[in-house]
Amino acid sequence: TAKDAGRGRCHVFDDSMRARSQGKMRLRSELHRALERDEIVVHYQPLYDLRTGVVRGVEALMRWQHPTQGLLTPEAFLPLALESDLILDLDGYVVRRACAEVAQMSRVTGRRIDAWVNYSARTLASPDLCDETSRAAREAGLPAENLTIEVTESALLEDLATTGRALQELRRQRVRLAIDDFGAGHTALTYLTRLPVSAVKLDRTFTQSIDTSPVDRAVVRSVADLARALGLVTVAEGVETSSQLDLAAASGCNLGQGYLLARPVAYDVVLDLAGRPAIDLRHGSAGARGVR
Ligand code: C2E
Ligand code: MG
Ligand code: MG
Ligand code: MG
Repeated sequence: TAKDAGRGRCHVFDDSMRARSQGKMRLRSELHRALERDEIVVHYQPLYDLRTGVVRGVEALMRWQHPTQGLLTPEAFLPLALESDLILDLDGYVVRRACAEVAQMSRVTGRRIDAWVNYSARTLASPDLCDETSRAAREAGLPAENLTIEVTESALLEDLATTGRALQELRRQRVRLAIDDFGAGHTALTYLTRLPVSAVKLDRTFTQSIDTSPVDRAVVRSVADLARALGLVTVAEGVETSSQLDLAAASGCNLGQGYLLARPVAYDVVLDLAGRPAIDLRHGSAGARGVR
């Protein structure tokens, strides 16, 4: 009968749900051991100066070298990490590793390279955060002002009283702050004037519509104008085409990041990129001459 068929289907559904939640539980417990098993890996994506074509910094992006599932991006495990204080250990590991490797990168290339590191809202609210962050830079021999912490606008707004204090304290320690994914949520422009921010990273949805939407182009231009007036750096995230690159530069973005220029890569590869001469950004030739 239809009722039986319905019940049958329901069973199948239950089974696949159960399998999925068991998979999630297993992944969660494996993630808790990933740090001690040395499975957490940091990849780096360069931030290029849109005027000169040189690498000015690299963003640290967390990866998990899973024993059977291969290299996992944050999408697969960050939500699990964010459920508990595990994220504090992970972010702590990434910031220490990034400071050490970027300091090394600067020494090897003889250029100033900045480390850009992502923090979750939970990390930002943790009481030891400021000390741990400035200690990571100090112990690596990286000047604190060469470290930028990226926080998404939604993380900032989760608890503005707490995060505001943390940001002020980081600023006192000379660590820089960037608002990540700017424009994706509801950040009022006034936050740029009230919080101790050094950089704005425009969400890639803006960068990617800059060549098709005159409205978004106007938004990018006015954010970049305001940022410049306030002494902030504007970064265009997610640059994938040469026309996006040209328009980002023409709209006043200072730095560019995206697959067109370079994907996130392991330390050895980014070290090579950072040491190369400037890439040619004229008239979209980065696609041909840029590195992938
Ligand atoms: P995000 O900080 O906004 O980083 C940019 C994401 O866009 C990265 O994804 C990067 O690989 C990707 N991306 C870069 N260029 C392009 C492009 O041209 N096109 C497209 N479609 N994507 C591009 P990823 O590495 O998967 O990281 C996703 C998010 O996970 C990050 O977004 C960040 O919010 C979070 N995350 C990464 N590492 C860490 C970390 O160490 N700690 C914390 N708390 N969060 C992290
Ligand atoms: Mg980021
Ligand atoms: Mg972003
Ligand atoms: Mg993002």
